[in-house]
Amino acid sequence: MNHSRYEAFLQDVRFTNERTKHFQFRLSNGHRFDFRPGQFISLDIDLDGEKVRRPYSIASAPRDDNGFDLCLNMLPEGRVSSWLFHLKPGDKIGFSGPFGFFALREPPDPVSAFIATGTGIAPIRAMLQQLYSRPHDSEVWLIFGVRQESDILYRDEFEKMAAEHPNFHFIPTLSRPDPGWTGHTGYVQQHVVRYLAGKQGLHAYICGLRKMIDDVAQEFRAMGYDRKALSYEKYD
Ligand SMILES: Cc1cc2nc3c(=O)[nH]c(=O)nc-3n(C[C@H](O)[C@H](O)[C@H](O)COP(=O)(O)OP(=O)(O)OC[C@H]3O[C@@H](n4cnc5c(N)ncnc54)[C@H](O)[C@@H]3O)c2cc1C
Repeated sequence: MNHSRYEAFLQDVRFTNERTKHFQFRLSNGHRFDFRPGQFISLDIDLDGEKVRRPYSIASAPRDDNGFDLCLNMLPEGRVSSWLFHLKPGDKIGFSGPFGFFALREPPDPVSAFIATGTGIAPIRAMLQQLYSRPHDSEVWLIFGVRQESDILYRDEFEKMAAEHPNFHFIPTLSRPDPGWTGHTGYVQQHVVRYLAGKQGLHAYICGLRKMIDDVAQEFRAMGYDRKALSYEKYD
């Protein structure tokens, strides 16, 4: 695949919680942009005369309108995330890509486990959209760690997936649970151990900050999984 430069315009944007936005982009001039679910783009912007680049995971599977989604966390001091956060429909971005080897394996493994925290859900949403775009026999787990209930990004979509597909197990877990929350609590690490021990043919996809990924990888290794059973994408 070549890494050409592309231009896209913002078609739609919405808050997913007060710090996170979901963006829908369309390629300008009807251009095609091919990528594998899980890959990322490199956003190139001009900030006060300085060229700045940041990687962002594509949060959607390839679709017919040749658009793609991003899921962005705004960091209070963050230069590029603040710029992106203030984009309005019709605004344009320049980017290159696709990049990365964090991508859905084909055919799917007998057990596919997805572990994410925060906006680490972005490439995993893309992979799950792809996985459920056609019939398959994989047993699928999504263990998603966030602080509070309002941080469970794309909750409706994953709950719908779980209702429609008995082989899809959705485990959102809160590290700072709100009063009245009766679901899972604590860090993703402990649920990995609880639900994913001894699974034959498992492949795990892990995305988020380095500390979480290192801890989760260590738990998988302690359970006897080969390191080849793990794919990961570190955001920091
Ligand atoms: C492969 C890849 C894919 C990524 N995909 C996404 C994505 O889909 N969505 C998304 O929101 N981000 C994603 N990121 C992170 C993104 O590239 C930027 O690092 C992030 O938006 C901050 O950039 P900034 O210019 O706003 O902040 P900067 O001005 O670079 O940094 C501001 C401050 O925040 C700290 N910081 C940087 N990142 C984080 C973080 N994640 N959490 C807490 N503190 C941080 C920095 O150390 C610095 O002190 C991805 C990173 C990688 C490597």
